[in-house]
Amino acid sequence: MIVVMKTDAPISEIQRIIQELRSWNITPEKIVGKHKVIIGLVGDTATLNSEKIQQLSPFIEKVVNIDKPFKRASLEFRYGEPTEVFVSTPNGIVVFGQHHPIVSIAGPCSVENEEMIIETAWRVKAAGAKLLRGGAYKPRTSPYSFQGHGESALDLLAKAREVTGLGIITEVMDAEQLAQVAEVADIIQVGARNMQNFSLLKRVGATNKPVLLKRGLAATIEDWLMAAEYIMAEGNPNVILCERGIRTFDRKYTRNTLDLAAIPVLRTLTHLPIMIDPSHGTGWAEYVPTMAIAAIAAGADSLMIEVHPNPAKALSDGPQSLTPQQYDQLMQQMATIGEAVGRWPVKSPVLAYSGVA
Ligand code: PEP
Ligand code: MN
Repeated sequence: MIVVMKTDAPISEIQRIIQELRSWNITPEKIVGKHKVIIGLVGDTATLNSEKIQQLSPFIEKVVNIDKPFKRASLEFRYGEPTEVFVSTPNGIVVFGQHHPIVSIAGPCSVENEEMIIETAWRVKAAGAKLLRGGAYKPRTSPYSFQGHGESALDLLAKAREVTGLGIITEVMDAEQLAQVAEVADIIQVGARNMQNFSLLKRVGATNKPVLLKRGLAATIEDWLMAAEYIMAEGNPNVILCERGIRTFDRKYTRNTLDLAAIPVLRTLTHLPIMIDPSHGTGWAEYVPTMAIAAIAAGADSLMIEVHPNPAKALSDGPQSLTPQQYDQLMQQMATIGEAVGRWPVKSPVLAYSGVA
């Protein structure tokens, strides 16, 4: 349930209503939007009487019931206003949201060594990426596959951040790694395989770091939004949803089925920013550009793309990784479509490649 305040509602009146609602044993949450102040009521609201709430003040515009199982993640909870997720990077603040330029993120599946991560960082930065991705802890289907270099890879990401100024996004697989990962990451990634690891969701929800929540391999959109709700219920509203392909029946020609229809569907359900990962979404580098520009046309707020300096030698996900040059070309195509949909003010690369630092 939400209480929508009139635009001229005095702060003292909003506070008074909040106090009153608290005395009814519910936990009101004040949300200051661009145009309106909303008081969100979550928890056991079944017995609340909306008419009784409406009568609390003449400054209440209306009381709206949220009939979805996800509350904080629902579009109604923000009264239709898209959430902006602010990510602070050494190069400046990067904003994810529907009324902002598309944010492009790139980097290898996993951090392999210093030379490759630093080179990739410079190359993707030159092409216009705002954050560098790279796994230190890798959730692999086989226990015999490369599991990531762990802590030492986090140090390399920290170095790449320091020398290029790019923000870092990297995955946390276990609550025990969280403090370590949060020290380096500007965005904490919760991977597809952990989307319903509820104890991990609660732990990342208790931090103040932006969280990238990847859709589970077999998760419905509602499962996914309920997972976001777990994070938000702990007090962290900075969640970005990432569609990365779901498991369907074709494993021969595509690794996953990229559900681009999730974009317009999510727009009707949630205020959270939407990212698309066409690399895991298709599994093959040759299909990544088509799906990346399709994602932009469909309204994605951000793209995450795997880039490796030598995909043939990659320790993980080589077949779906673009070379830095291919990423650079793709960024130019993305700029064309991005401009057409009014989401790409920066056409040319920000900086030239200045070599390995
Ligand atoms: C990744 O981003 O490298 C990754 C492992 O993704 P996902 O969790 O979507 O499989
Ligand atoms: Mn990968």
